[in-house]
Order: sequence, then structure tokens, then C-alpha cells
Amino acid sequence: MTLEELQDVCLQLSMPKFTAKQIAQWMYDKHVHSIDEMTNLSKANREKLDSLFCVGSAAPIETNRSKDGTMKYLFPTEDGQFVETVYIPDSDRATLCVSCQVGCKMNCQFCQTGKQGWHGNLTVRDILNQIYTVNQLGAEEGLTPLSNIVYMGQGEPLDNFDNVLKSIQILTADYGWAWSPRRITVSTVGLKTTMRRLLDESECHVAVSLHSPIPEQRLQLMPAEKQFTISDIVALLKEYDWSHQRRITFEYTMFGGTNDSTLHAKELLKLLQGLDCRVNLIRWHRVPDVPLKEVSMTTMEHFRDYLNNHGITTTIRASRGQDIWAACGLLSTSSRTERISENKKTSSQTL
Ligand code: SF4
Repeated sequence: MTLEELQDVCLQLSMPKFTAKQIAQWMYDKHVHSIDEMTNLSKANREKLDSLFCVGSAAPIETNRSKDGTMKYLFPTEDGQFVETVYIPDSDRATLCVSCQVGCKMNCQFCQTGKQGWHGNLTVRDILNQIYTVNQLGAEEGLTPLSNIVYMGQGEPLDNFDNVLKSIQILTADYGWAWSPRRITVSTVGLKTTMRRLLDESECHVAVSLHSPIPEQRLQLMPAEKQFTISDIVALLKEYDWSHQRRITFEYTMFGGTNDSTLHAKELLKLLQGLDCRVNLIRWHRVPDVPLKEVSMTTMEHFRDYLNNHGITTTIRASRGQDIWAACGLLSTSSRTERISENKKTSSQTL
């Protein structure tokens, strides 16, 4: 809960307003696992809270470790489903790729999560639990602490925007975890209904899934193009200032013989002209039953060099965790979801 929500709870339970700050401190600073540990609250107030709420975290039920050090965790959700979270260490930094939905509605042609379909939104607690728990487990195992969070796991963040935004608020607020928003990136296909809210109501970095500068082809790869075209997305982004600390990146997954030509590079340059941005090229890994081809590293390097030589900073993202199906576009919990579809929803509320 945000501080405002905690204040509402205190009001409803006839507790002083300042109790909300104390509760936030116990949860987000001291990370207690029971309300009874909140010892500066009166016993009566602790009992009131305890009868209605619970605090704490949920451990992953499965962990896979890649030979390159990447870890993939399978977390249970509040409504009895599962999501995957990927921890990516890189010398003295570590990035956590967080999920925000079980499956995804966007149905991008090349993505394993898209094939799974949509099975529900994660709650704020489900989202924050991934971050808190991985950091705790990492500390116990001597792993590099998290330096960055990317909302790039399963699901489309703008399709569960209220919960994603609330999780970012708690991550970045002084009463919460006090992270800089510059350590957080939200990745999106670009949804008309919530894109402007992301830009106005958060200060974190933004990554837009582009994948083709040619509208007809982007539509084939990503049905979301129909609702909000890439030209409209770029036009909206041009209304904002990206020249300071906030960053806009375009993600470009490359498919052999599909979107890797010089024509594509030229169209990209035209599309992004006048926007202070960078491009991140992503290597696609084969997904069963998808008629796309992988691309060679040489082709990716040529594409990168062409864009760099024409003024757009372009990098190739290192592919991590492929051997444990943790690389971009490979996350899926469909077999789990089918097995537990009869699970009952939990009835307890959480703070
Ligand atoms: S690429 Fe992202 S938005 Fe598209 S289907 Fe996969 S998870 Fe959803």
C-alpha cells in the first residue's frame, strides 16, 4: 500500500494518522514479517490490523540458474497462479526483469508469453514481492545487490498500469524504498490509453518495443500497432524532453530476413529523426511454431554500425539466460497456469 492508502486504513480503524508512517517504516524499511513486530503501535491497534491484514513476502517455488549466472525464479501470485522473474548479474551491477501480468494480451507474434494468453493482472504486492524477495535471497547467497529494475518480464505494464504505477511509487517514495526512478525502466508496446500517464505520472526511463519501422510489418509482428501506431507513439514522445536524465530507448528485436535490411535501418532513421533516443538491438531466440528466423551476429553488427554512423546511439543487448528459457521473449508459465487453474483465490488482504 502507498502511504495514502495506509492513512485511509488508519482513518477507518480510528487510529492516529501518523501511525501510517510508522507502518510504512516497519514494512518498507525494517521489512518485518508480522504485524506483531510493529512494536511502537499499541497492542490494541496491532490486533485490529492483524485481524484484517497480513504483511510479509512469498518465496519462489522454483529457481533455475543459467551457466552465465542469470537466475530465473518462479513466484506464486496472490490468486494462485505463477510468474517468472529474471535476475541478471553483470560485474558490479544486477538487473531484475520483473513481470506484471500472468501471460499477456498483446499477442506479439515472436513472444512465448504472448502465446500463453492473458490470465490476470499481478497485484502491487505480487510485483513488489519479486523485487524484495530476490534482493533478500541474493543477500543471503552473497549475490550482487539489485542496481536496476526493468518492467520487461511477462505482461504489458501499461495494461496493468495502476498497479505498476503504485509499485513504482512505493519503490521510489521516501516512505518506501527510496530508489531513484532512474534505476527503473518500464518497457511497453505503447498503449494509447495509458502511455501519456506513464510519461506524466512517473519519472522512470521508458523503453518502447519497436521491432519494425514499417507500419504494415509492425502490425503483423505486434497487433498493438492497430490501436496506437508507432508514428503516433513517436509523435507523443517528441512532446517530452529526453535530453536530460530521463531516457527513451527503442527495443528492436531482429529476425533474419524480416527486419534486418538497410531499408529498415533507413526507415528507422526517418522515424526517429529529431528524437533524443537510443536503439537497443535484441537477438531473437527461436520460439516453437513461430515462422521467424534468427539473425546472425554479423548482420546485427552491420545494422548497429549503420545506425551509429547516422547519429542514433545503438547497442546490441547481450543475450542472457537462454539455456534456462530466461532470455527476452522466452518467459512462459502456461503449463503451470493450466495445472493450477482450479486453485482457489486467497481471501486475506495484504498491506
Ligand atoms: S513481447 Fe511483451 S507485450 Fe508482446 S506478447 Fe510478449 S510480453 Fe506481451
